[in-house]
Amino acid sequence: MHSIHHYINNEFVSSQGGETFDILTPLTNEVIGKCASGQPGDIDKAARAARSAFDSGVWSKMKVKDRAKKIRTIGDLILKHASTVAELEIEDTGIPRAQITKGAIPRAADNFYFFADQLEALRGDSYTVNDEWLNYVIYRPVGVAGLITPWNTPFMLESWKVAPALASGCTVVLKPAEWSPLSASQMCKIIQEADLPPGVFNCVHGYGESAGAPLVAHPMVNLISFTGETTTGQIIIKNGADTLKRYSMELGGKSPNIVFADVDMERAIDGALWQVYSLNGERCTAASRLLLEETIHDTFVEKLAERVRKIRVGDPNDMATEVGPLIHKEHWERVRGFMDVAREDGATILVGGDNPANLPSPIPHPPSIAKGNYFAPTLITNATNNMRIAQEEVFGPVLTVMKFKDEADAIRQANDIKYGLAGYVWTRDLERAHRVAASLECGMVWVNAQNVRDLRLPFGGSKWSGIGREGGELSFKEFFMEAKSVHVPLKAAHVPRMGG
Ligand code: ADP
Repeated sequence: MHSIHHYINNEFVSSQGGETFDILTPLTNEVIGKCASGQPGDIDKAARAARSAFDSGVWSKMKVKDRAKKIRTIGDLILKHASTVAELEIEDTGIPRAQITKGAIPRAADNFYFFADQLEALRGDSYTVNDEWLNYVIYRPVGVAGLITPWNTPFMLESWKVAPALASGCTVVLKPAEWSPLSASQMCKIIQEADLPPGVFNCVHGYGESAGAPLVAHPMVNLISFTGETTTGQIIIKNGADTLKRYSMELGGKSPNIVFADVDMERAIDGALWQVYSLNGERCTAASRLLLEETIHDTFVEKLAERVRKIRVGDPNDMATEVGPLIHKEHWERVRGFMDVAREDGATILVGGDNPANLPSPIPHPPSIAKGNYFAPTLITNATNNMRIAQEEVFGPVLTVMKFKDEADAIRQANDIKYGLAGYVWTRDLERAHRVAASLECGMVWVNAQNVRDLRLPFGGSKWSGIGREGGELSFKEFFMEAKSVHVPLKAAHVPRMGG
Protein backbone atom coordinates (compact mmCIF):
# COMPACT_ATOMS: atom_id res chain seq x y z
CA MET A 1 0.00 0.00 0.00
CA HIS A 2 1.27 3.44 -0.92
CA SER A 3 1.44 6.22 1.61
CA ILE A 4 1.84 9.55 -0.15
CA HIS A 5 2.74 12.80 1.59
CA HIS A 6 3.12 16.44 0.72
CA TYR A 7 6.63 17.75 0.16
CA ILE A 8 7.14 21.12 1.86
CA ASN A 9 10.45 22.81 2.68
CA ASN A 10 12.35 19.65 1.67
CA GLU A 11 10.37 17.41 4.03
CA PHE A 12 7.67 14.85 3.42
CA VAL A 13 4.75 15.79 5.66
CA SER A 14 1.13 14.81 6.34
CA SER A 15 -1.70 17.29 6.13
CA GLN A 16 -1.77 19.44 9.24
CA GLY A 17 -5.18 18.03 10.17
CA GLY A 18 -4.26 14.49 9.09
CA GLU A 19 -6.73 14.45 6.16
CA THR A 20 -6.20 11.74 3.52
CA PHE A 21 -7.96 10.28 0.50
CA ASP A 22 -7.85 6.81 -1.04
CA ILE A 23 -5.74 6.11 -4.10
CA LEU A 24 -7.43 3.73 -6.56
CA THR A 25 -5.91 1.86 -9.45
CA PRO A 26 -7.88 1.93 -12.70
CA LEU A 27 -6.82 -1.65 -13.45
CA THR A 28 -9.17 -3.07 -10.81
CA ASN A 29 -10.66 -0.07 -8.98
CA GLU A 30 -9.11 -1.37 -5.76
CA VAL A 31 -7.62 0.92 -3.12
CA ILE A 32 -3.83 0.86 -3.41
CA GLY A 33 -2.91 3.46 -0.82
CA LYS A 34 -3.64 6.70 0.95
CA CYS A 35 -2.62 10.18 -0.04
CA ALA A 36 -2.40 13.29 2.14
CA SER A 37 -5.30 15.56 1.24
CA GLY A 38 -4.12 19.16 1.23
CA GLN A 39 -6.24 21.85 2.88
CA PRO A 40 -5.87 25.64 2.83
CA GLY A 41 -3.46 25.47 5.82
CA ASP A 42 -1.15 23.09 3.96
CA ILE A 43 -1.18 25.29 0.89
CA ASP A 44 -0.41 28.29 3.06
CA LYS A 45 2.59 26.48 4.57
CA ALA A 46 3.91 25.54 1.13
CA ALA A 47 3.31 29.02 -0.33
CA ARG A 48 5.16 30.63 2.59
CA ALA A 49 8.07 28.22 2.16
CA ALA A 50 8.23 29.00 -1.56
CA ARG A 51 7.93 32.75 -0.93
CA SER A 52 10.69 32.84 1.61
CA ALA A 53 12.97 30.70 -0.62
CA PHE A 54 12.32 33.07 -3.50
CA ASP A 55 12.82 36.24 -1.49
CA SER A 56 16.08 34.94 -0.03
CA GLY A 57 17.56 34.80 -3.54
CA VAL A 58 19.07 31.40 -2.79
CA TRP A 59 17.56 30.08 -6.03
CA SER A 60 16.58 33.10 -8.12
CA LYS A 61 20.02 34.66 -7.77
CA MET A 62 22.01 31.43 -7.93
CA LYS A 63 24.60 31.55 -10.71
CA VAL A 64 22.95 30.46 -13.95
CA LYS A 65 25.56 27.74 -14.48
CA ASP A 66 24.84 26.26 -11.06
CA ARG A 67 21.07 26.45 -11.40
CA ALA A 68 21.23 24.84 -14.84
CA LYS A 69 23.39 22.06 -13.37
CA LYS A 70 20.78 21.34 -10.70
CA ILE A 71 18.06 21.24 -13.37
CA ARG A 72 20.10 18.78 -15.45
CA THR A 73 20.64 16.64 -12.35
CA ILE A 74 16.86 16.30 -12.04
CA GLY A 75 16.81 15.07 -15.68
CA ASP A 76 19.55 12.54 -14.88
CA LEU A 77 17.67 11.32 -11.81
CA ILE A 78 14.46 10.86 -13.79
CA LEU A 79 16.33 8.50 -16.12
CA LYS A 80 18.00 6.77 -13.16
CA HIS A 81 14.59 6.14 -11.55
CA ALA A 82 12.74 5.56 -14.83
CA SER A 83 11.59 2.07 -13.97
CA THR A 84 10.10 3.17 -10.62
CA VAL A 85 8.35 6.10 -12.28
CA ALA A 86 6.97 3.74 -14.93
CA GLU A 87 5.60 1.24 -12.38
CA LEU A 88 3.86 4.02 -10.43
CA GLU A 89 2.47 5.72 -13.51
CA ILE A 90 1.06 2.49 -14.93
CA GLU A 91 -0.55 1.52 -11.63
CA ASP A 92 -1.95 5.00 -11.13
CA THR A 93 -3.16 5.89 -14.63
CA GLY A 94 -3.47 2.71 -16.73
CA ILE A 95 -1.40 4.14 -19.56
CA PRO A 96 0.31 1.32 -21.49
CA ARG A 97 3.90 0.57 -20.50
CA ALA A 98 5.33 1.03 -23.99
CA GLN A 99 3.90 4.56 -24.24
CA ILE A 100 5.23 5.50 -20.81
CA THR A 101 8.71 4.03 -21.13
CA LYS A 102 9.35 5.06 -24.73
CA GLY A 103 7.45 8.35 -24.64
CA ALA A 104 6.48 10.04 -21.41
CA ILE A 105 9.51 9.36 -19.20
CA PRO A 106 12.34 10.19 -21.64
CA ARG A 107 10.35 13.29 -22.56
CA ALA A 108 10.09 14.29 -18.90
CA ALA A 109 13.88 14.09 -18.58
CA ASP A 110 14.25 16.02 -21.86
CA ASN A 111 12.12 18.82 -20.44
CA PHE A 112 14.68 19.35 -17.67
CA TYR A 113 17.67 19.12 -20.03
CA PHE A 114 16.01 21.43 -22.54
CA PHE A 115 15.07 24.17 -20.09
CA ALA A 116 18.55 24.07 -18.52
CA ASP A 117 19.96 24.73 -22.00
CA GLN A 118 17.37 27.44 -22.63
CA LEU A 119 18.33 29.15 -19.41
CA GLU A 120 21.97 29.30 -20.42
CA ALA A 121 21.01 30.56 -23.88
CA LEU A 122 18.58 33.22 -22.65
CA ARG A 123 19.26 36.67 -24.03
CA GLY A 124 17.56 40.03 -23.91
CA ASP A 125 17.42 42.39 -26.88
CA SER A 126 19.06 45.78 -26.97
CA TYR A 127 17.91 48.83 -28.91
CA THR A 128 20.16 51.75 -29.64
CA VAL A 129 18.75 55.12 -30.66
CA ASN A 130 21.04 57.37 -32.74
CA ASP A 131 24.09 56.63 -30.60
CA GLU A 132 22.23 58.62 -27.96
CA TRP A 133 20.41 55.90 -26.08
CA LEU A 134 21.13 52.34 -25.19
CA ASN A 135 17.95 50.51 -24.26
CA TYR A 136 17.98 46.90 -23.29
CA VAL A 137 15.79 44.19 -21.81
CA ILE A 138 16.62 41.97 -18.87
CA TYR A 139 14.57 39.05 -17.62
CA ARG A 140 13.86 38.23 -14.01
CA PRO A 141 11.86 35.32 -12.52
CA VAL A 142 8.34 36.35 -11.53
CA GLY A 143 8.28 34.78 -8.05
CA VAL A 144 6.27 31.88 -6.66
CA ALA A 145 4.75 29.66 -9.34
CA GLY A 146 1.60 27.64 -8.62
CA LEU A 147 1.50 24.67 -10.98
CA ILE A 148 -1.79 22.77 -11.28
CA THR A 149 -1.60 19.60 -13.32
CA PRO A 150 -4.03 17.00 -14.69
CA TRP A 151 -4.03 13.18 -14.45
CA ASN A 152 -3.30 12.34 -18.08
CA THR A 153 0.41 11.55 -18.49
CA PRO A 154 0.85 13.24 -15.12
CA PHE A 155 4.61 12.83 -14.72
CA MET A 156 5.42 14.25 -18.13
CA LEU A 157 3.01 17.16 -17.74
CA GLU A 158 4.38 17.95 -14.29
CA SER A 159 7.90 18.03 -15.75
CA TRP A 160 6.66 20.32 -18.52
CA LYS A 161 5.76 22.92 -15.90
CA VAL A 162 8.26 22.23 -13.11
CA ALA A 163 11.32 22.33 -15.42
CA PRO A 164 10.80 25.82 -16.91
CA ALA A 165 9.49 27.20 -13.60
CA LEU A 166 12.59 26.09 -11.68
CA ALA A 167 14.98 26.93 -14.52
CA SER A 168 13.60 30.47 -14.66
CA GLY A 169 14.45 30.98 -11.00
CA CYS A 170 10.88 30.87 -9.73
CA THR A 171 10.09 28.75 -6.70
CA VAL A 172 7.26 26.27 -6.99
CA VAL A 173 4.14 24.89 -5.35
CA LEU A 174 2.90 21.95 -7.41
CA LYS A 175 -0.67 20.69 -6.96
CA PRO A 176 -0.92 17.39 -8.85
CA ALA A 177 -4.24 15.86 -9.87
CA GLU A 178 -6.00 13.91 -7.14
CA TRP A 179 -6.54 10.89 -9.40
CA SER A 180 -2.79 10.44 -10.04
CA PRO A 181 -0.65 11.29 -7.00
CA LEU A 182 1.89 8.45 -7.23
CA SER A 183 4.37 9.55 -9.86
CA ALA A 184 4.15 13.16 -8.59
CA SER A 185 5.41 11.85 -5.28
CA GLN A 186 8.30 10.20 -7.11
CA MET A 187 9.05 13.60 -8.69
CA CYS A 188 9.35 14.96 -5.13
CA LYS A 189 11.79 12.18 -4.19
CA ILE A 190 13.85 12.88 -7.29
CA ILE A 191 13.98 16.59 -6.52
CA GLN A 192 14.92 15.78 -2.93
CA GLU A 193 17.81 13.70 -4.25
CA ALA A 194 18.85 16.62 -6.49
CA ASP A 195 19.27 18.58 -3.25
CA LEU A 196 17.64 21.92 -4.04
CA PRO A 197 17.60 24.54 -1.27
CA PRO A 198 14.60 24.19 1.12
CA GLY A 199 11.35 25.74 -0.10
CA VAL A 200 12.39 25.95 -3.76
CA PHE A 201 10.14 23.08 -4.77
CA ASN A 202 7.03 22.12 -2.83
CA CYS A 203 4.17 19.79 -3.63
CA VAL A 204 0.74 19.66 -2.00
CA HIS A 205 -1.64 16.88 -3.00
CA GLY A 206 -5.39 17.18 -2.81
CA TYR A 207 -8.67 17.95 -4.46
CA GLY A 208 -9.21 20.94 -6.71
CA GLU A 209 -11.63 22.64 -4.34
CA SER A 210 -9.66 22.17 -1.11
CA ALA A 211 -6.04 22.41 -2.34
CA GLY A 212 -6.17 23.89 -5.87
CA ALA A 213 -8.50 26.78 -5.09
CA PRO A 214 -6.51 28.12 -2.07
CA LEU A 215 -3.33 27.93 -4.16
CA VAL A 216 -4.96 30.06 -6.85
CA ALA A 217 -6.21 32.58 -4.28
CA HIS A 218 -3.01 32.73 -2.23
CA PRO A 219 -1.54 36.25 -2.11
CA MET A 220 2.06 35.00 -2.00
CA VAL A 221 1.67 33.06 -5.26
CA ASN A 222 2.34 35.18 -8.34
CA LEU A 223 1.34 32.98 -11.22
CA ILE A 224 -0.65 29.88 -12.07
CA SER A 225 0.20 27.49 -14.85
CA PHE A 226 -2.82 25.24 -15.32
CA THR A 227 -3.56 22.29 -17.55
CA GLY A 228 -7.03 20.81 -17.37
CA GLU A 229 -10.61 21.27 -18.41
CA THR A 230 -11.81 24.53 -19.90
CA THR A 231 -14.54 24.88 -17.26
CA THR A 232 -11.95 24.51 -14.46
CA GLY A 233 -9.77 27.12 -16.17
CA GLN A 234 -12.70 29.53 -16.13
CA ILE A 235 -13.20 29.04 -12.39
CA ILE A 236 -9.48 29.48 -11.73
CA ILE A 237 -9.31 32.74 -13.67
CA LYS A 238 -12.18 34.12 -11.55
CA ASN A 239 -10.62 32.93 -8.28
CA GLY A 240 -7.27 34.50 -9.01
CA ALA A 241 -8.66 37.91 -9.91
CA ASP A 242 -8.39 39.41 -6.42
CA THR A 243 -4.69 38.63 -6.21
CA LEU A 244 -4.12 39.54 -9.88
CA LYS A 245 -2.59 36.26 -10.96
CA ARG A 246 -0.62 35.82 -14.15
CA TYR A 247 -1.96 32.79 -16.04
CA SER A 248 -0.93 30.20 -18.54
CA MET A 249 -3.95 28.10 -19.45
CA GLU A 250 -3.73 24.84 -21.37
CA LEU A 251 -7.35 23.75 -21.69
CA GLY A 252 -9.54 21.30 -23.58
CA GLY A 253 -9.56 20.34 -27.23
CA LYS A 254 -11.53 18.61 -29.94
CA SER A 255 -8.99 18.70 -32.69
CA PRO A 256 -9.76 17.98 -36.34
CA ASN A 257 -7.81 15.57 -38.50
CA ILE A 258 -8.48 16.43 -42.16
CA VAL A 259 -7.71 13.71 -44.69
CA PHE A 260 -7.81 14.53 -48.41
CA ALA A 261 -8.39 11.90 -51.08
CA ASP A 262 -4.84 12.09 -52.47
CA VAL A 263 -3.16 10.59 -49.39
CA ASP A 264 -1.27 7.37 -48.85
CA MET A 265 -4.22 5.76 -47.09
CA GLU A 266 -2.25 3.37 -44.88
CA ARG A 267 -0.16 6.19 -43.46
CA ALA A 268 -3.18 8.39 -42.91
CA ILE A 269 -4.87 5.52 -41.08
CA ASP A 270 -1.79 5.05 -38.89
CA GLY A 271 -1.94 8.75 -38.07
CA ALA A 272 -5.68 8.77 -37.39
CA LEU A 273 -5.39 5.78 -35.04
CA TRP A 274 -2.35 6.89 -33.07
CA GLN A 275 -3.55 10.42 -32.72
CA VAL A 276 -6.72 9.44 -30.92
CA TYR A 277 -6.19 6.03 -29.30
CA SER A 278 -2.67 6.45 -27.88
CA LEU A 279 -2.50 7.37 -24.17
CA ASN A 280 -5.94 5.74 -23.90
CA GLY A 281 -7.39 8.70 -25.77
CA GLU A 282 -6.79 10.83 -22.70
CA ARG A 283 -4.80 13.58 -24.35
CA CYS A 284 -5.65 17.19 -24.91
CA THR A 285 -4.25 17.21 -28.45
CA ALA A 286 -6.20 14.09 -29.51
CA ALA A 287 -7.43 14.26 -33.09
CA SER A 288 -10.91 13.19 -32.07
CA ARG A 289 -12.75 14.56 -35.14
CA LEU A 290 -11.77 12.82 -38.35
CA LEU A 291 -12.84 14.75 -41.46
CA LEU A 292 -12.64 12.59 -44.58
CA GLU A 293 -12.99 13.79 -48.17
CA GLU A 294 -16.26 12.23 -49.27
CA THR A 295 -14.79 10.33 -52.24
CA ILE A 296 -12.64 8.17 -49.93
CA HIS A 297 -14.97 8.10 -46.94
CA ASP A 298 -16.40 4.60 -47.29
CA THR A 299 -13.15 2.81 -48.14
CA PHE A 300 -11.24 4.69 -45.45
CA VAL A 301 -13.82 3.90 -42.78
CA GLU A 302 -13.90 0.23 -43.73
CA LYS A 303 -10.12 -0.11 -43.44
CA LEU A 304 -10.02 2.03 -40.30
CA ALA A 305 -12.70 -0.06 -38.57
CA GLU A 306 -10.77 -3.22 -39.32
CA ARG A 307 -7.70 -1.78 -37.59
CA VAL A 308 -9.67 -0.35 -34.63
CA ARG A 309 -11.07 -3.84 -33.94
CA LYS A 310 -7.52 -5.18 -33.77
CA ILE A 311 -6.16 -2.65 -31.25
CA ARG A 312 -4.86 -4.60 -28.28
CA VAL A 313 -6.80 -3.59 -25.17
CA GLY A 314 -5.53 -5.03 -21.91
CA ASP A 315 -3.23 -4.92 -18.92
CA PRO A 316 -1.13 -1.76 -19.29
CA ASN A 317 1.82 -3.58 -17.70
CA ASP A 318 2.10 -5.68 -20.82
CA MET A 319 4.51 -4.18 -23.35
CA ALA A 320 2.21 -5.27 -26.19
CA THR A 321 -0.89 -3.49 -24.85
CA GLU A 322 -2.00 -0.54 -26.94
CA VAL A 323 -4.96 0.73 -24.89
CA GLY A 324 -5.28 0.36 -21.11
CA PRO A 325 -8.04 1.31 -18.65
CA LEU A 326 -9.35 4.85 -18.23
CA ILE A 327 -8.18 6.75 -15.18
CA HIS A 328 -11.26 6.48 -12.95
CA LYS A 329 -14.67 4.87 -12.81
CA GLU A 330 -16.28 8.32 -12.86
CA HIS A 331 -14.44 9.19 -16.04
CA TRP A 332 -15.38 5.83 -17.57
CA GLU A 333 -19.06 6.63 -16.86
CA ARG A 334 -18.66 9.98 -18.54
CA VAL A 335 -17.09 8.46 -21.66
CA ARG A 336 -19.76 5.75 -21.70
CA GLY A 337 -22.42 8.47 -21.39
CA PHE A 338 -21.23 9.97 -24.66
CA MET A 339 -22.30 6.78 -26.44
CA ASP A 340 -25.93 7.47 -25.53
CA VAL A 341 -25.48 11.08 -26.57
CA ALA A 342 -24.10 9.98 -29.94
CA ARG A 343 -26.95 7.53 -30.55
CA GLU A 344 -29.60 10.05 -29.49
CA ASP A 345 -28.20 12.53 -32.02
CA GLY A 346 -28.36 9.90 -34.79
CA ALA A 347 -24.72 8.80 -35.09
CA THR A 348 -23.69 5.15 -35.39
CA ILE A 349 -21.31 3.38 -33.01
CA LEU A 350 -19.55 1.25 -35.59
CA VAL A 351 -16.90 -0.23 -33.28
CA GLY A 352 -16.60 -0.35 -29.47
CA GLY A 353 -18.78 1.80 -27.22
CA ASP A 354 -18.34 -0.01 -23.89
CA ASN A 355 -16.02 -2.14 -21.77
CA PRO A 356 -14.79 -4.89 -24.14
CA ALA A 357 -16.21 -7.40 -21.66
CA ASN A 358 -19.71 -6.02 -22.36
CA LEU A 359 -19.39 -6.10 -26.13
CA PRO A 360 -20.39 -8.91 -28.43
CA SER A 361 -17.78 -7.71 -30.93
CA PRO A 362 -14.56 -9.59 -31.60
CA ILE A 363 -12.27 -7.12 -29.77
CA PRO A 364 -10.00 -9.60 -27.97
CA HIS A 365 -9.51 -9.11 -24.24
CA PRO A 366 -8.29 -11.01 -21.18
CA PRO A 367 -10.91 -12.01 -18.56
CA SER A 368 -9.61 -9.54 -15.91
CA ILE A 369 -10.82 -6.69 -18.05
CA ALA A 370 -14.33 -6.54 -16.62
CA LYS A 371 -12.99 -5.29 -13.26
CA GLY A 372 -11.08 -2.28 -14.60
CA ASN A 373 -12.10 0.94 -16.31
CA TYR A 374 -11.45 -0.44 -19.78
CA PHE A 375 -13.17 1.17 -22.72
CA ALA A 376 -12.90 -0.40 -26.14
CA PRO A 377 -11.47 1.80 -28.89
CA THR A 378 -14.58 3.32 -30.38
CA LEU A 379 -15.38 4.48 -33.89
CA ILE A 380 -18.43 6.64 -34.47
CA THR A 381 -19.76 7.20 -37.98
CA ASN A 382 -22.75 8.90 -39.63
CA ALA A 383 -21.93 11.94 -37.56
CA THR A 384 -22.28 15.58 -38.51
CA ASN A 385 -20.38 18.50 -37.07
CA ASN A 386 -23.36 19.93 -35.17
CA MET A 387 -23.75 16.78 -33.03
CA ARG A 388 -22.54 16.80 -29.44
CA ILE A 389 -20.22 13.87 -30.15
CA ALA A 390 -18.53 16.12 -32.74
CA GLN A 391 -18.42 19.21 -30.56
CA GLU A 392 -17.70 18.09 -26.98
CA GLU A 393 -14.44 16.76 -25.60
CA VAL A 394 -14.77 13.08 -24.64
CA PHE A 395 -11.15 12.58 -23.47
CA GLY A 396 -11.25 8.87 -24.17
CA PRO A 397 -10.56 6.40 -27.03
CA VAL A 398 -13.42 7.67 -29.14
CA LEU A 399 -13.13 8.86 -32.74
CA THR A 400 -15.95 10.65 -34.55
CA VAL A 401 -15.84 10.46 -38.35
CA MET A 402 -17.37 13.03 -40.67
CA LYS A 403 -17.27 13.87 -44.38
CA PHE A 404 -16.34 16.98 -46.33
CA LYS A 405 -16.86 18.00 -49.97
CA ASP A 406 -13.86 20.17 -50.70
CA GLU A 407 -11.10 22.18 -49.06
CA ALA A 408 -13.35 25.10 -48.11
CA ASP A 409 -15.88 22.74 -46.54
CA ALA A 410 -13.13 20.94 -44.61
CA ILE A 411 -11.80 24.21 -43.18
CA ARG A 412 -15.29 25.45 -42.36
CA GLN A 413 -16.17 22.29 -40.40
CA ALA A 414 -12.77 22.08 -38.73
CA ASN A 415 -13.14 25.64 -37.42
CA ASP A 416 -16.81 25.40 -36.53
CA ILE A 417 -16.16 24.52 -32.88
CA LYS A 418 -15.37 26.40 -29.68
CA TYR A 419 -11.99 24.70 -29.19
CA GLY A 420 -8.73 25.48 -31.01
CA LEU A 421 -5.86 23.43 -29.65
CA ALA A 422 -4.41 21.35 -32.49
CA GLY A 423 -5.15 20.48 -36.11
CA TYR A 424 -3.88 17.69 -38.37
CA VAL A 425 -3.95 17.60 -42.15
CA TRP A 426 -3.07 14.78 -44.52
CA THR A 427 -2.54 15.53 -48.21
CA ARG A 428 0.15 15.14 -50.85
CA ASP A 429 -0.65 18.56 -52.30
CA LEU A 430 2.05 20.80 -50.84
CA GLU A 431 0.31 24.10 -51.49
CA ARG A 432 -2.97 22.87 -50.08
CA ALA A 433 -1.21 21.55 -46.98
CA HIS A 434 0.18 24.99 -46.18
CA ARG A 435 -3.09 26.74 -47.06
CA VAL A 436 -5.07 24.53 -44.72
CA ALA A 437 -2.45 24.79 -41.95
CA ALA A 438 -2.70 28.57 -42.15
CA SER A 439 -6.52 28.52 -42.13
CA LEU A 440 -7.10 26.29 -39.13
CA GLU A 441 -8.11 28.21 -36.00
CA CYS A 442 -5.81 26.53 -33.51
CA GLY A 443 -2.45 26.79 -31.80
CA MET A 444 -0.59 23.90 -33.47
CA VAL A 445 -0.86 22.04 -36.78
CA TRP A 446 0.78 18.84 -37.97
CA VAL A 447 0.98 18.06 -41.70
CA ASN A 448 1.17 14.37 -42.65
CA ALA A 449 2.32 13.52 -39.15
CA GLN A 450 1.23 12.67 -35.67
CA ASN A 451 1.92 14.93 -32.73
CA VAL A 452 5.72 15.14 -32.58
CA ARG A 453 6.73 18.39 -30.96
CA ASP A 454 10.06 20.15 -30.95
CA LEU A 455 10.43 21.71 -27.52
CA ARG A 456 11.53 25.04 -28.99
CA LEU A 457 8.14 25.70 -30.57
CA PRO A 458 5.23 27.49 -28.93
CA PHE A 459 2.74 25.14 -27.28
CA GLY A 460 -0.81 26.21 -26.53
CA GLY A 461 -4.28 26.70 -27.88
CA SER A 462 -6.55 29.40 -29.18
CA LYS A 463 -10.28 29.97 -28.60
CA TRP A 464 -11.51 27.82 -25.66
CA SER A 465 -8.36 25.72 -25.67
CA GLY A 466 -6.12 28.09 -23.83
CA ILE A 467 -4.50 31.39 -23.11
CA GLY A 468 -0.83 32.00 -23.75
CA ARG A 469 1.95 29.91 -25.21
CA GLU A 470 4.72 28.05 -23.44
CA GLY A 471 7.67 26.24 -24.99
CA GLY A 472 11.16 27.35 -25.91
CA GLU A 473 12.10 30.75 -24.66
CA LEU A 474 8.42 31.74 -24.53
CA SER A 475 8.13 29.75 -21.28
CA PHE A 476 10.59 32.22 -19.81
CA LYS A 477 9.87 35.42 -21.68
CA GLU A 478 6.09 35.20 -21.78
CA PHE A 479 5.38 33.53 -18.50
CA PHE A 480 7.81 32.52 -15.77
CA MET A 481 9.96 35.63 -16.17
CA GLU A 482 9.23 39.29 -16.41
CA ALA A 483 10.83 41.61 -18.93
CA LYS A 484 12.36 44.76 -17.60
CA SER A 485 13.32 47.52 -20.00
CA VAL A 486 16.33 49.61 -19.04
CA HIS A 487 16.83 53.00 -20.74
CA VAL A 488 20.27 54.62 -20.58
CA PRO A 489 21.30 57.86 -22.33
CA LEU A 490 24.82 57.79 -23.78
CA LYS A 491 25.20 61.53 -23.37
CA ALA A 492 23.35 63.95 -21.11
CA ALA A 493 19.77 63.47 -22.21
CA HIS A 494 17.46 66.43 -22.37
CA VAL A 495 15.29 66.74 -19.26
CA PRO A 496 12.59 69.42 -19.50
CA ARG A 497 13.03 71.90 -16.69
CA MET A 498 10.24 72.65 -14.20
CA GLY A 499 9.97 75.02 -11.27
CA GLY A 500 12.07 77.92 -12.52
P1 ADP B 1 -9.35 16.71 -15.24
O1 ADP B 1 -10.58 16.31 -15.95
O2 ADP B 1 -8.07 16.61 -15.99
O3 ADP B 1 -9.28 16.25 -13.81
P2 ADP B 1 -9.69 19.22 -14.08
O4 ADP B 1 -9.72 20.52 -14.76
O5 ADP B 1 -10.87 18.82 -13.25
O6 ADP B 1 -9.46 18.23 -15.22
O7 ADP B 1 -8.42 19.05 -13.14
C1 ADP B 1 -7.13 19.46 -13.47
C2 ADP B 1 -6.45 19.94 -12.22
O8 ADP B 1 -7.13 21.08 -11.72
C3 ADP B 1 -6.43 18.93 -11.07
O9 ADP B 1 -5.19 19.02 -10.41
C4 ADP B 1 -7.55 19.42 -10.18
O10 ADP B 1 -7.42 19.04 -8.83
C5 ADP B 1 -7.41 20.91 -10.34
N1 ADP B 1 -8.62 21.68 -10.01
C6 ADP B 1 -9.91 21.32 -10.14
N2 ADP B 1 -10.73 22.30 -9.71
C7 ADP B 1 -9.94 23.32 -9.29
C8 ADP B 1 -10.18 24.62 -8.75
N3 ADP B 1 -11.41 25.08 -8.53
N4 ADP B 1 -9.11 25.40 -8.45
C9 ADP B 1 -7.86 24.97 -8.68
N5 ADP B 1 -7.57 23.76 -9.17
C10 ADP B 1 -8.59 22.94 -9.49
